[in-house]
This record gives sequence, C-alpha cells and structure tokens, in this order.
Amino acid sequence: MKLYNTLSRKKEDFKPMDGTDTVRMYSCGPTVYNYAHIGNLRTYVFMDLLRRVLRYEGFNVKGVMNITDVGHLTDDGDNGEDKMAKTAREQKKDPWQIAKYYTEIFMKDFGRLNIGVPEIVCKATDYIGEMIEYVEGLVENGYGYETDDGIYYDISKFKDYGQLSGNTLDDLKAGARIEVNDGKRNPYDFAIWKKAPKEHIMQWPSPWGQGYPGWHIECSAMSRIHLGDVFDIHTGGVDHIPIHHENEIAQSEGLTGKNPAKFWVHGDFMLVDGGKMSKSLGNTYTIDQLIEKGYSPMVFRFFCLNAHYRKKLNFTFDGMDGAKVSYERLCASLLKHKNSPIATDASVLEKYKKEFIEDIGDDLNVPSALGVLFTMLKEPASKDIYELALDFDKVFGLSLDAIEDKKSSDIPEEIIAKAEQMQSARAEKNWAVADALRAELGELGYLVKNTKDGYEISKK
Ligand code: AMP
Ligand code: ZN
Repeated sequence: MKLYNTLSRKKEDFKPMDGTDTVRMYSCGPTVYNYAHIGNLRTYVFMDLLRRVLRYEGFNVKGVMNITDVGHLTDDGDNGEDKMAKTAREQKKDPWQIAKYYTEIFMKDFGRLNIGVPEIVCKATDYIGEMIEYVEGLVENGYGYETDDGIYYDISKFKDYGQLSGNTLDDLKAGARIEVNDGKRNPYDFAIWKKAPKEHIMQWPSPWGQGYPGWHIECSAMSRIHLGDVFDIHTGGVDHIPIHHENEIAQSEGLTGKNPAKFWVHGDFMLVDGGKMSKSLGNTYTIDQLIEKGYSPMVFRFFCLNAHYRKKLNFTFDGMDGAKVSYERLCASLLKHKNSPIATDASVLEKYKKEFIEDIGDDLNVPSALGVLFTMLKEPASKDIYELALDFDKVFGLSLDAIEDKKSSDIPEEIIAKAEQMQSARAEKNWAVADALRAELGELGYLVKNTKDGYEISKK
C-alpha cells in the first residue's frame, strides 16, 4: 500500500520495518482539559481509518495513543499557563478531576464514532520518571541546559531542525520574537522540563527541583517506552507539524541519534463555515451537540469519510444534511440485499473488491472506496453483495451490520411515518414541530429515542 509521508513529501510504499507483519504506530492523543470538538474527532477518525486499512491489508497494528494530562501550555511552544491548570482554576476543581472527567467523555466519543481504541493508551502523569530520564539524557548529550525556570532544548545543536515543516533554523532565527526571558540560549529553544512555582498543583521532584514535563517530551518518552527508538508510523493533525512534531524529532535525534518514525502521517483540519473553529466564535461543536441537533454520530463519521484525510473538510449543517440523506440512502440500498437468496457472479464481486483494495491502498482514498460501495449496491439484490459490503465496512466502520429494517418491526406504519417526520423536523431544526410530534407519539403510547444510527421506537 502507498502512504503519504510528510517527511519525504511524497507517497511511499508502506511496509512495516524489520520485515515483520506488525505495524508500530504512535498517535498524538488529546489534551484532556475540555470536550473534544468535531475537528479533534476528525483527526481520530483518520487515525482509526489508517489502523483499519492496515489491518485490512493483513498487518497487525500495535497502536499507542497518549493522553496529555499535564504540561501542554496555552501556547504550543512554552509560553502561557498549563491548559489543565487553567481549566482547573476556572472550574474550581483540581487538574486530576478535570483530566478524569474529559478523558471519560473522550473515550465515550470514540465508542459512539466507532473509533477503535489503540492497543495502548497512556497518560502522561504515569510516566514522569521516564520523562525525567529522557531529559537527563538530553542534558548529558549536550542538547538540554538549565535556566531559572526549566530545562531547555538547544535547537542550534540540531542542524537538521525543520525537516517536517521546512522551517529551517535560519527561518526560526529570522522569525524569533525578542524575548525578555530568561536565560535561554536562543529565543526559539523550547522547554523540555518546567520548574514549578509553589502554587502549581501538578509537580514532581526532579534533579532540578520540583517541576513538570514539557508537552513534547511526553510523546517522545512514551513512544520510546512502548514502541522503541524507531517505529513505523507517527500520526497527528497538521497543526503538529511545525512545532510539536519537529520538537519530537529534535528530542529523539538528541537522545538516540535517530528520527523516531519512518512515516509521519498528518490529517488535515476541519473548518467550520469555511473558517477556523474557535470557542470565541461558538463553532466548536461536540458530538453531543450534533446529536441534539438530530445528527447521529454515524452520520458525522460518514461525513468525515467523504473527504480525503489530506484535504481540509469544511463543516456546515447543509453538508451534514447532505451526509444524512446520503447515509440513509446507503442504509436503504444495503437492506435491499440483506435477505436476498440470490447469488452474484464471483467475477463481479472480485471486480468490486479489487477496486476497493486499490482505493484504500492508494494513501487511504476512502471517498473513492465509498464510491465503489455505492456503485456495488446498485447491483440486483444479492446476499453476496450484502456480505461484501460488510467486508468493506471493516474499513469504513459504519456499523453496517447493525442496520435494521425499521419497517420489519411490529411498530405500525403510521407510527414509523410520524417518527420519520419528527426526524426530518429535527434535521431542519424545526424544534416546535419535532416536539409536537414527539408528544403526539407519546400520547399514542410510543417512545422515540435518538441513537447513534438514527432513532429507535419502542412501546411505552
Ligand atoms: P489537542 O487536544 O488540542 O492536543 O488536539 C487533539 C488533536 O486534534 C490533535 O491531533 C490536533 O492536531 C487535532 N485538531 C485540533 N484542531 C483540529 C481541527 N480543527 N481539525 C482537525 N484536527 C484538529
Ligand atoms: Zn504528541
């Protein structure tokens, strides 16, 4: 299979290193100081697609994802307040409670979006000892140095800095802010360990006094512990390319002399209404908010699948409405095949399977693979087509095997019709009509519950 490598800026043939059939893959996980928004989740849908394609290609996947529960400052470099500490202060809780609460919700979103949980999920605060050792190693090798407020990485010592983003040391020098701080040798050096002021809640003893790790060192230390000095694939969103991932490479080169990953693979951003997603604009939607507006998590997953992971994806509610219609059409076409006794010629099935494999093996061309599925479902009703669609769904992860024909239940037609009307009203944000229909159904003795695949009707 071919995979685009940000490092070489081209599609390369992918094979696991060491000639084994196990792919070792590290994915930068969330900073658990807030609800994950749909942009964050797009990046994890991409991670999941990559894991699923690798498995479909016959590889085992050993995936590691971190949970950042300390050290990610409000600025991706090393300025500002620790995001966890800031939320804890605002919510009058401690950072451990904040981390626990948002990690649980993040994992719930994974479940609702059918995102497979990587084999190892590790939280930064469980690896402080390993991080300290890493920092000590960098100091010993001459890359790390102490200042009044922490241990910094001396970027001028790593001549190849900037390989991923193309931001060379000269660019950094030209763009560096003149800082009042701070004993740093170069304005663009970054913190690998921060000394903690007394009031900082999360802090640990270290050879440099009480402190806490820098965000970048967390990923370097945890990936090395679980996957070794060099592993196959490192993933993240494109925003990580110029700082976080450059710094991870710099740290690994400083400690082990090696770039930690053979392939660096990045998912592009989700925009909202053509612009940046930001809290101040009120457009950072969560999965719960989408459900409230009548879109199931599967519709959101389907929406993501329709754009290639290296293209920006513009989120709009019109786009979601389109995805919903298209997803429902997909489900209806699939059901047509479900209980058919008819077989399909093997050569026809092979043709579709071949096209599907070509698409997913071409740098995860999932939108095109979905096209193959849609075309295939237009074939005359056949059990074989149904089975092959479920096989493709090992990659899509749309839970196609769970799709039921609502009409085959013992719920009367007119009740189903009212429930469908209610769903359409919700999709159009016509809340008054939707509420009236829900009440009417209630009076008739039926309860309509929204589920991840749409809705469920039951007798009260
Ligand atoms: P964070 O929790 O801020 O560390 O981000 C978690 C993941 O979401 C990272 O891999 C980011 O690259 C990614 N991310 C953040 N914003 C967006 C966005 N608008 N679209 C896609 N991915 C994003
Ligand atoms: Zn990371």
